[in-house]
Amino acid sequence: MFDVAIIGAGMSGLICAQQLQQAGYRVVVVEKSRGLGGRVTTRRLQDTCADRGLSYLIANGELTTSLVELLTCQDILQVWTDTVHEFRADFGLKAVKGVPLYTAPKGMSAIARFLAKDLEIQLSKRVVSLSLFDDCWHLQFENSNTQVVAKAVVVAIPAPQALTLLKPIALPVVLDSLRQVEFSSCISVIAGYPANMPLPVWRSLTVIDDDTLAWIGNDSSKRLGMNTPVFVFHSAAKFAQTYIDTEDLQPIGQQLLNKAAKLFPELANPDWLQCDRWRYAFPTIPLADNCLNAYTPQPLLCCGDWCGGFNLEGAMRSGNAAAKQINQVLQPTSS
Ligand SMILES: Cc1cc2nc3c(=O)[nH]c(=O)nc-3n(C[C@H](O)[C@H](O)[C@H](O)COP(=O)(O)OP(=O)(O)OC[C@H]3O[C@@H](n4cnc5c(N)ncnc54)[C@H](O)[C@@H]3O)c2cc1C
Repeated sequence: MFDVAIIGAGMSGLICAQQLQQAGYRVVVVEKSRGLGGRVTTRRLQDTCADRGLSYLIANGELTTSLVELLTCQDILQVWTDTVHEFRADFGLKAVKGVPLYTAPKGMSAIARFLAKDLEIQLSKRVVSLSLFDDCWHLQFENSNTQVVAKAVVVAIPAPQALTLLKPIALPVVLDSLRQVEFSSCISVIAGYPANMPLPVWRSLTVIDDDTLAWIGNDSSKRLGMNTPVFVFHSAAKFAQTYIDTEDLQPIGQQLLNKAAKLFPELANPDWLQCDRWRYAFPTIPLADNCLNAYTPQPLLCCGDWCGGFNLEGAMRSGNAAAKQINQVLQPTSS
């Protein structure tokens, strides 16, 4: 029996869990994947790793600034570059000196591991239904007879996934709010190249106004002693929308690389490539509020980057807001 069960070990869920645990509640986080971090995730492959979701952190808000300060002191984050290159068909390649981009040499999932410290987290547990008995929430999992029981629940997952869970239990007005939220998708490709490949001058290249390719990063330049150049490619939203349901993503990944090879020919022929689909990559129509109260008889709140923001800063703010609201409701009754 927990005070609060948090569904989703992404940034919003982990921040919310930390806040509530520090306030003295007994908290559990349940996560469907085998790893932590949600869209802040690193893939281990060959003899290396690569960031397949969030590639770098920018201190562009109060919470990301504090996180960057904390994690650079802990040697988890370091400056990757302060020059972002941009490519646009009409003006070509342009270097833009700006704010530093921070990365984790051990992979961006190190951020999630740091935030997960001392939390009780159950991995590989996909919540398939929520029900209320005896003034408690009961969380049921896919392929499992075990349950988690808690007084309050925070649903820290993308709105369309939250909608599926909340349909049987929430008021129509809450479901309508969830339906309003829209996300764009992204297909990301990690590709490894021969050791003698000539490297481009850029580390982070944003491709502007292109329907296929949005971003390329030289991922291996984040880490010392990498023999194999590894690049990460993010598709444009339009491209992802077209191919997000394609069963075999390998040829789709190759299409992305072909586009990239028009800018840098050596990128056309990697030794290997791995593709990922992010159906809910970036909120395009978020809610105005920082979290969504379901107004159920026992507390249930939703949070995530789609509540009051678009990005990591928004996810963190939303996790904090959900923790604050849960604390306000539980405080008088918790012993
Ligand atoms: C390719 C890519 C690049 C990005 N680049 C940037 C960037 O440069 N800057 C920036 O600010 N942001 C960027 N983002 C967005 C940023 O990563 C997100 O805003 C942020 O990580 C969202 O965190 P979250 O906690 O709201 O959701 P998520 O990270 O999606 O976490 C939700 C978690 O819930 C789990 N879950 C879902 N359903 C269930 C269930 N039924 N049961 C149990 N667990 C469940 C999921 O597995 C996931 O771990 C990027 C995202 C992607 C995909």
